[in-house]
Amino acid sequence: MRLELFLVATAVICATGKPLSEAAPKTKLLLISFDGFRWDYDQDVETPNLDQLAVDGVKAKYITPPMLTMTSPSHFTTITGRWVEDHDVVHNMMYDAKTNLKLPHKLTMTKSAWWDNGVLPLWITAQNQGLKTASFHYPGGGVSYGGQAVHRALVEDVNHPDDNETEWRQNIDMVMSWFSEEDFDLVTLYYGEPDSVGHAKGPETPERRDIIRQIDRTIGYLREAINHHGLNDTLNVIITSDHGMTTIKKRPKVEEIVLNKYLNLLTLASFEILDYGGFGILTPRPGKEQEAFDALSNAPNLTVYRKHEIPESFHLAKSKRLPPLVVVADLGFNLNSRFIVYVNKGDHGFHNGEMDMKTIFRAFGPNFKKDFLAEPFDSIHIYPLMCKLLEIQPAPHNGSLAVTEDMLLPAVPRPTSEPTTGPTTGQATVLTTGPPNGGWRRCSASVALLLAALLSVFTVM
Ligand SMILES: [Zn+2]
Repeated sequence: MRLELFLVATAVICATGKPLSEAAPKTKLLLISFDGFRWDYDQDVETPNLDQLAVDGVKAKYITPPMLTMTSPSHFTTITGRWVEDHDVVHNMMYDAKTNLKLPHKLTMTKSAWWDNGVLPLWITAQNQGLKTASFHYPGGGVSYGGQAVHRALVEDVNHPDDNETEWRQNIDMVMSWFSEEDFDLVTLYYGEPDSVGHAKGPETPERRDIIRQIDRTIGYLREAINHHGLNDTLNVIITSDHGMTTIKKRPKVEEIVLNKYLNLLTLASFEILDYGGFGILTPRPGKEQEAFDALSNAPNLTVYRKHEIPESFHLAKSKRLPPLVVVADLGFNLNSRFIVYVNKGDHGFHNGEMDMKTIFRAFGPNFKKDFLAEPFDSIHIYPLMCKLLEIQPAPHNGSLAVTEDMLLPAVPRPTSEPTTGPTTGQATVLTTGPPNGGWRRCSASVALLLAALLSVFTVM
């Protein structure tokens, strides 16, 4: 009789998907991105709150963004777990090489045609499994995927100020109320700093150090807010970024790149995006492919790739959108097309192997270890970690949970086998489709069925 009651109780809990024990309440996830936060920005300025976070949670030495190291492509890799060639958000600038349309970064944020290329971001995958999600200014959160929108999405105005500390705190207050009063399960929150200051002033400046102090205060405020809203035991937080920043080399210290010196862009190229940091793309005019490639090959301080010869480690060559020629400047050189009109003192878009392009990863909350220093990893592996924390079946992705699961507390049951069939390094290319997260707290249907079958046997007895 006692056994029967136990089985009934267990079967009911499994069928309703409630936690197996009160000690393991349902957890929520907040993903925060501070755009352009280079991996070492906390090392030349006092950051008491970030320091405390390392004690209370997980800090990676650094993480590597995908090629190409720009805001939209990198953020979309984090939220999809897919390489840029698969999700095909291949620049910050939305473009059409045939019509010569070019739409700057902030104007793409409500354009589904730019983001919805058949890959589902985490919000939609989570929503399809019953979770409630929101995006607060996060790139890609403001559009629809296969006609499906994020439950709640706030999109930045084009002229939105990036550095308003009061607004930063208000945004945190709003997100906390979404979790505590409206029971959202996943929120992604984006801040445009320290990227803006890094571009305008350069990464090695007092202004950049000031904005890091401001971010540090904001993290202190975030932790107070989590406490105030009673979310300490239920909210996991990941803080990361999309790329680093490097100082742009200027005359007279170097001879800056002016591409028109080496090839006549008007006669050799029908489409180009240049004058945009260290990464450029170009469509040669018909019959001019070899001439354009040879001319660029002779230009100093850059590397030109034919699309089909792009190194596999870039994970760019399969992109449908990418034009036939890709140009990557040496670290610190800007790709000026015709004149030097470029005012940025810092920039990104350079090779993701450069240390200046590396970025940050921090995490804390009920499922993360404390005082845990993680080895460097590729940002693509954040996606399966987020699926694990949310207990959802991941969509096909290129990441590997094996890379990040050591950050989690051992009390968390692990999957019996590593779900990915790909390598566990940053070069993983094989898609992972699951299984889901090892039944962390939710029972699988098969367990419920087994218990029900056992129950019927005992009832008959
Ligand atoms: Zn930027």
